Amino acid sequence: RFISIEGGEAVGKSTQIRLLAEALRADGRKVTITREPGGTESAEAIRTLLLEGGADRWNARSEALLFAAARADHVARLIRPAIEAGGWVLSDRFIDSSRAYQGVAGGLGDEAVLALHQFGSQGFLPDCTLLLELPADEAARRATLRDGAGSDRIGGRDAAYHASVAQAFRTFAAAEPERFHVIDASGESHAVQARIIAALAHLAA
Ligand code: C5P
Repeated sequence: RFISIEGGEAVGKSTQIRLLAEALRADGRKVTITREPGGTESAEAIRTLLLEGGADRWNARSEALLFAAARADHVARLIRPAIEAGGWVLSDRFIDSSRAYQGVAGGLGDEAVLALHQFGSQGFLPDCTLLLELPADEAARRATLRDGAGSDRIGGRDAAYHASVAQAFRTFAAAEPERFHVIDASGESHAVQARIIAALAHLAA
């Protein structure tokens, strides 16, 4: 099984992935946790290129190509082999982040991003995508607690950009209700985890 966890900045994805992996392992499953951009040595090297230097380092097209290149390596070398070996893979972000950040908020369009994904990764999709949702003011509060004054990890992107990302995720979820589960990410982490476990019950068999 391949599950991606998506959402804007500081919605709690990494905490929830860790808790979900613990729950699945306690159930006897082999679980690999990974993340994007990154996940393999080469893709982590691309992550460094993407996250260092601020929002002005790359233009939207070069940024989208780097994300797609990192993902191609990630899918071929880590995700597909782990699934073929019978394991579960949990990825902190995947193609829907590229669709929301580079495609919608970055203005390239969903079709362009999906075309890159088709070329790089044969259009490979998760069995299930958990979309963690928080009201914008709560997400901004958590981001400030984590990173200091309102920054995301790339930096230099304004509230309108992040609002556009959040809206894009909601649109994708509405368009593919069988793949997406929208999870209320507010409140205490174990309460959020319980919502995730309930949403995944249908996959556990
Ligand atoms: O918090 P996280 O580890 O997910 O941070 C990754 C960073 O990369 C975030 O700032 C996120 O906004 C950015 N990102 C992006 N486009 C993607 C995936 C991540 O801009 N496709």
